[in-house]
Amino acid sequence: MGYSGFQIIKEGLFGQKGWKPLWRDPAPKARYDAIIIGGGGHGLATAYYLAREHGLTNIAVLEKGHIGGGNIGRNTTIVRANYFLPGNQEFYSHSLKLWEGMEQDLNYNVMHSQRGLINLFHSDGQRDAFVRRGNAMINQGDDAILLDREGVRSHLPYLDFDNGRFPIYGGLYHPRGGTARHDAVAWGYARGADQRGVDLIQNCEVTGIDIENGVVTGVQTTRGAIRARKVGIVTAGRSGQVAAMAGMRLPIESHVLQAFVTEGLKPVIDHVVSFGMGHFYISQSDKGGLVFGGDLDFYASYAARGNLPMAEHVMEAAMTLMPMIGKARVLRSWGGIMDMTPDGSPIIDTTPTKGLFIDCGWCYGGFKAVPASGFAFAHLMATGQPHATAAKFRLDRFRTGVGLMDEEGTGSQHNLH
Ligand SMILES: Cc1cc2nc3c(=O)[nH]c(=O)nc-3n(C[C@H](O)[C@H](O)[C@H](O)COP(=O)(O)OP(=O)(O)OC[C@H]3O[C@@H](n4cnc5c(N)ncnc54)[C@H](O)[C@@H]3O)c2cc1C
Repeated sequence: MGYSGFQIIKEGLFGQKGWKPLWRDPAPKARYDAIIIGGGGHGLATAYYLAREHGLTNIAVLEKGHIGGGNIGRNTTIVRANYFLPGNQEFYSHSLKLWEGMEQDLNYNVMHSQRGLINLFHSDGQRDAFVRRGNAMINQGDDAILLDREGVRSHLPYLDFDNGRFPIYGGLYHPRGGTARHDAVAWGYARGADQRGVDLIQNCEVTGIDIENGVVTGVQTTRGAIRARKVGIVTAGRSGQVAAMAGMRLPIESHVLQAFVTEGLKPVIDHVVSFGMGHFYISQSDKGGLVFGGDLDFYASYAARGNLPMAEHVMEAAMTLMPMIGKARVLRSWGGIMDMTPDGSPIIDTTPTKGLFIDCGWCYGGFKAVPASGFAFAHLMATGQPHATAAKFRLDRFRTGVGLMDEEGTGSQHNLH
């Protein structure tokens, strides 16, 4: 079903009865050319690009819950291309370009809003670091503007500029950064994949990976065995558990990340703003809720909900940066399971098992990566060769130490990235 303004008006006039489900609900077949484990953003985008770019359509996406129930529907929706290190830079730059064409490509409104992102700095040292980052972004072909204190004030007049501990010195402005409606991204890719013949199979948990003589032959699921010569693991926070089914021990720890939303307010925050001296970032949703979050809960867990110490920490940072937020009422909080790597950068690679591929390690930045990750992983699964934009996301860098991409410069500790 294609969407058009005419159709929306027609459905509005005739009781919205003509809409059809966005994707089919097929029973799993006994055999596919390729299986994607995990129906999150990355798995769905992979299936979509496998079909669109490589003509592979005998594919199943196996999702243990429902499409959009994982982190793809739990994140704070920030999309940006402001990375510093080679490897990450070209990948996220490519991703932002795919975002910019996504709605036309999918014929689906994902509410991509390039409202601009401002990272604040609060010391001379931090300014130096952001100048370097901004120059790296410009060299990559992306946009970055250094704002002084008055420049920040012209965009964000509501901040506390003279906080006794953390006065604002300026900010790095990334105008093409912004937000998108997270679950619409899942639905758009799901619909696009389904239209090309991909089977999206929900409530189908993979419980085992079949390997014969070092070659993958299929998977065991709660809905029976399914055979395939190619299998891609794209299970985000559960990557360690699923990879273990193939005898792999990944260099990944799973950690909880929380987020919060207030009651709906009139428009007040029209950018994405990130505090440079505490764990806090914020934007305003189209419904009016202030959507904000901070850092991980700092302990490894598979619980998709967090604890109060980090909630308190995030609220404190919010009040430090923008005391006006104290008047808003928090409606709810939630959590997701983050697949944290030791250098904070992702993995898109083959595995020691022939035909088995892995895409994981997105830490808390995998939403913005969805299109480029799907594009690169589809390329790898179809051709056996890494896509140029993701060639540095190798699994063996954690064994050899060569090619680590520690964007934060915090060393090999998963929860510090
Ligand atoms: C609170 C929060 C805020 C965030 N904010 C941002 C942000 O602002 N910007 C940004 O870029 N990123 C952000 N992220 C990170 C981003 O959401 C994730 O990195 C990304 O969504 C992970 O990829 P995914 O969408 O494929 O994951 P998921 O949606 O989690 O998909 C993985 C799927 O695999 C399925 N699965 C697991 N095991 C099995 C199995 N055995 N069999 C079958 N299926 C299985 C799961 O059910 C799940 O649906 C945030 C995350 C959280 C939690």
